[in-house]
Formats: sequence, structure tokens, C-alpha cells
Amino acid sequence: MSAEAMKRSLGKTACKEAPAIPTEQLDVARGLENLPVSAWPPGAGPRPAPFQYTPDHVAGPGADMDPSQITFPGCVCMETPCLPGTCSCLRHAESYDDSLCLRDIGLEAEYAKPVFECNALCLCGENCRNRVVQRGLQFHLQVFQTDKKGWGLRTLEWIPKGRFVCEYAGEVLGFSEVQRRIHLQTAHDPNYIIAIREHVYNGQVMETFVDPTYIGNIGRFLSHSCEPNLLMIPVRIDSMVPKLALFAAKDILPAEELSYDYSGRFLNLVGSKDKERIDHGKLRKPCHCGARSCAAFLPYDSSLYCHLEKQDTG
Ligand SMILES: [Zn+2]
Ligand SMILES: [Zn+2]
Ligand SMILES: [Zn+2]
Repeated sequence: MSAEAMKRSLGKTACKEAPAIPTEQLDVARGLENLPVSAWPPGAGPRPAPFQYTPDHVAGPGADMDPSQITFPGCVCMETPCLPGTCSCLRHAESYDDSLCLRDIGLEAEYAKPVFECNALCLCGENCRNRVVQRGLQFHLQVFQTDKKGWGLRTLEWIPKGRFVCEYAGEVLGFSEVQRRIHLQTAHDPNYIIAIREHVYNGQVMETFVDPTYIGNIGRFLSHSCEPNLLMIPVRIDSMVPKLALFAAKDILPAEELSYDYSGRFLNLVGSKDKERIDHGKLRKPCHCGARSCAAFLPYDSSLYCHLEKQDTG
């Protein structure tokens, strides 16, 4: 990204109030998704603070890998459909069924199975069933003003359980950059930084940090809920850096707000210590999700702050 683009996306003070000319429906995604994303209220009403739109992850400071680089070999399925046993992309079972739904999405799943989609080097066609997240938005979504939680994201269409809804995309960061950014946050700043930890093999943990604050997609408008309707699953396509794909955890009605559990848990089994008001000396933000099982406060990734504290005292 050019320095100029950065200035444009951050320069709230530099840009003068534009005259209120009613124009056609604003596309929050600026034409970069395969469907436009509208905003509510329409017209010249309030708008979300400016940010640079990207539909895919971009490499940010300290990233170990460039998420746009192709790191996986492709399969050689030309004559046959991609199926487990013959397709090298499907090592275990099929990830999706014939209606583009993620298989086995549900409460029973304690951990998410790894999902590898067919990629740019695969010889199978674009109709391959193992290509879902890469097809992009399939449902009309809208960024809207909520009562208590600032901007939120909702669907304008019915979404069946298991379907892919949108990604959570942004800058992929190294851990020291995450620490630096968290350090600069005030109590009023939203924290969009997400840490995904995956258990790979030999007990190793792979960590991915994504920050859509300055450069990101519509995923940054998703609210937290203690009973969310979306589930976040790491999905790999071309790169070892996972896409953070959000799937419908249940059937979702038109106009329903979309939410996921910021803590990465699903249908929150909260421990008592999760209800404490103060976490590592910081006042936690209240949760307004309204669910019966609401934990009262937004989740707090204490591990990010533990590292910080260690560094502060050291
Ligand atoms: Zn294949
Ligand atoms: Zn393939
Ligand atoms: Zn394929």
C-alpha cells in the first residue's frame, strides 16, 4: 500500500467535510467484493470512520509469510472430481457438501478440523466442490448502526446453516507489532486485533495475528455475541496463512445481525473467572449482546496482555 493511500485512509482530520450530495447507494466494499455491501441509514447520514478496504489479507509489519504467495502444490484432478483418496487437497474427508455447506458444523465439534480448499495451481475446474470461501460473498450484507454497539453487520437474505458468509481479513502482523499496537490503544479504541491459535502437529501451536483496523474487510463490523450465529474457521487456499472464514452456525433470517464469539469459543461455556470486571488491571468493556448466557463483558485475550506485561517488567 502506498503512503498516500495510508494517509487517505487514516486522515480523518485532513479531509474536509464533503458537501452532502445524495448519491447512489454507497458500497462499503468499494467494488472490491463480488457483491456490493450497502450501508444503513442510506443517503448522507453518518458513515463508519474511513479505513482502507481489502477483501483479502495483506502482509503487515513483522508478518512471517506473505499471505498472497502461493505455498501449496495443486492437485492433478482433471478427469475425476476432487474426492478424498484421489485428490491431494482432500487428505481426510470432504470439507463441504453439495450445497456449499461446511460439513459437521455444530455444537459437538470441540475443535475445528483443518480446511484446505483447491487452489490456483490445482487442475480441477472452478466448479470443484472444494472451492467455497474463494468464491467470495454470496449473500447481500449491510453495514448498519446498532443501538449500543456502534456499527454492525447484518444480512439482507436468508442464510442456511453451514454456508460461508464472509471473511475476517486485514493486515497479518508479527507478534511484536501486535504488542506495539495494543500498547497504543486507549480504553475507547475498538480492538480489532484477532489472534488465532491452531494446534498443528507435535503439540506445536501456529499463531496468526490479523488486524483490520486500518486495512481490512467488512468482517471488522461484526459484533461479539455470547450466542453467536457465525463460527470462525481457519481455511487455507493458496497460502499457509489461514483465511479466517465465518460460516453460518445456524439458519440466519433476513435483517438478523451477524455476530461471532471474539474469544474463538463457540456457544460460550464460560468459567467464573470470565465474568470478572477487571482483567490484568484493565477495565473490561461491557457486552451488549443480549443473549441469555451473556458473560457481561467482552472477551479479553489475556495471553496477548500477559506477553506485554512480561515485556514491560523485563
Ligand atoms: Zn483435486
Ligand atoms: Zn485441488
Ligand atoms: Zn478441486
